[in-house]
Amino acid sequence: MEVTARKGMKVFVNVASWMDGWNGSHDMENGNERREREGGVKRLVLFPCPYQGHINPMLQLGSFLHSKGFSITVIHTQFNSPNPSTHPEFTFFPIQDGLTAEEISSGNVLAFLLAINANCKASFRQCLTQVMEQEPDNKITCAIRDDLMYFTEAVAKDLNIPNIMLRTSSVTNVLARTAVPQLHSKGHIPFPGITLHCWIANSQSLNPVPDFHPLRFKDLPTSNFDTFEKYSELVVNAFDVRTASAMVWNTTDCLEQSSLAQIQQQFPVPIFSIGPLHKIEAAASSSLLEEDTSCIAWLLKQSNNSVIYVSLGSVASISEIELAQMAWGLANSKQPFLWVIRPGSVSGSEWIELLPQGFIEAIGEGGCIVKWAPQREVLSHRAMGGFWSHCGWNSTLESLSEGIPMICTPSFGDQKVHSRYVSQVWNVGMHMDNELERGEIERTVRKMMVDADGEVMRVRAKDLKEKIEVSLSNGGSSYNFLNKLVELIMLF
Ligand code: UDP
Repeated sequence: MEVTARKGMKVFVNVASWMDGWNGSHDMENGNERREREGGVKRLVLFPCPYQGHINPMLQLGSFLHSKGFSITVIHTQFNSPNPSTHPEFTFFPIQDGLTAEEISSGNVLAFLLAINANCKASFRQCLTQVMEQEPDNKITCAIRDDLMYFTEAVAKDLNIPNIMLRTSSVTNVLARTAVPQLHSKGHIPFPGITLHCWIANSQSLNPVPDFHPLRFKDLPTSNFDTFEKYSELVVNAFDVRTASAMVWNTTDCLEQSSLAQIQQQFPVPIFSIGPLHKIEAAASSSLLEEDTSCIAWLLKQSNNSVIYVSLGSVASISEIELAQMAWGLANSKQPFLWVIRPGSVSGSEWIELLPQGFIEAIGEGGCIVKWAPQREVLSHRAMGGFWSHCGWNSTLESLSEGIPMICTPSFGDQKVHSRYVSQVWNVGMHMDNELERGEIERTVRKMMVDADGEVMRVRAKDLKEKIEVSLSNGGSSYNFLNKLVELIMLF
């Protein structure tokens, strides 16, 4: 049958006519009302990709669906296993992932993802089968899988379980990723024998990507380790929707309307833009590292909009030289800062022992350093004035949702796309284009926190925050798509 999934776009889906009768005005029904109406609990199985930036949105979606009356089972790798005690309402099952210590410590994200997909199929199948046998009356209604965990699709298909794909990055990033093989086939990118990243960095890095305004070649989502063959393997497998009944995105129409329209044309499945997920359900933290809440007491002592928050996420790493440049740039800016330095984020370091001599004394009470922060709480604090970020998609969404302008220093992959969008499309951030250098850092931090440029961005960021709030409120785009998603799952 043909249904209208997004405005003006027809797609074919093989589920009942769940969209035809949709008028967007249904009220969110709570879980108990739904259970009473449906007479029973439907079980959903979630399989997150084992990185912080993927676990968070998957469990946030799980919390939302749990509040609508679904029971939630999370199957996950042993590596980066989520803490079950933070979500006592879910059932957790770890599976053997077969990852070697070398694969885990290499930092080669692409090889790591390919290894999980190669290793986990049999153990995932065994676990799903066991779950079904243990509770035959509690049938699995649907599997929700991270797009990068593509091995799960074939298992779900074999076991006759419908599956939905969750995309935890931006739509624009996925469009850019799928564009890379096309750019190669048209001769814009040469191969093999060189990593994409090196070629892009050294050759035509500032040239615009054809048909992809405002991305330049250097903004394409590539990483140090990518060879064309491996890159294509991941893109082809992860971005093929295959048997997915729907594609769910942690984004919202007001941020990515034109990319959403393009993606709908590329993928003939219903598309649901339901984000930002962290704002939908007051979900418990799913941090893999312990959050140091002492920084909130420090924030309380700071004036409104005065603090720059610095975090490069859960994966990006920096050199000892970059650490020193960041430290002196921040100190010399004379602006209060809250800085997350993850243990190991400088290769071989325990924590802050590699900070330059004299730095801690120089900043005194003017700075607070933690291993891991309660980031959502930090960004919503009244003292927050700017976020110096690597532009992971969650961090970007969390900053935009709180109206906090950004200083962008992306490291690899999708971060580069988001950085470009923050500074050139949403106009709520400044991109530090060059290598981290203390003078440039000092100037950029002051521009953001003291100068008129920063104030203009703060106003724009507040405006965008309001638009995001509208999309999440009754009748807004994300609100409506969430309702539609629940309706779809109820039909399985
Ligand atoms: N985060 C956090 N505390 C920190 C740093 C990060 O809770 O000190 C969270 C942040 O809120 C976000 C996630 O970790 O939800 C990082 O995901 P993102 O997509 O931004 O980046 P990644 O870590 O995947 O590079």
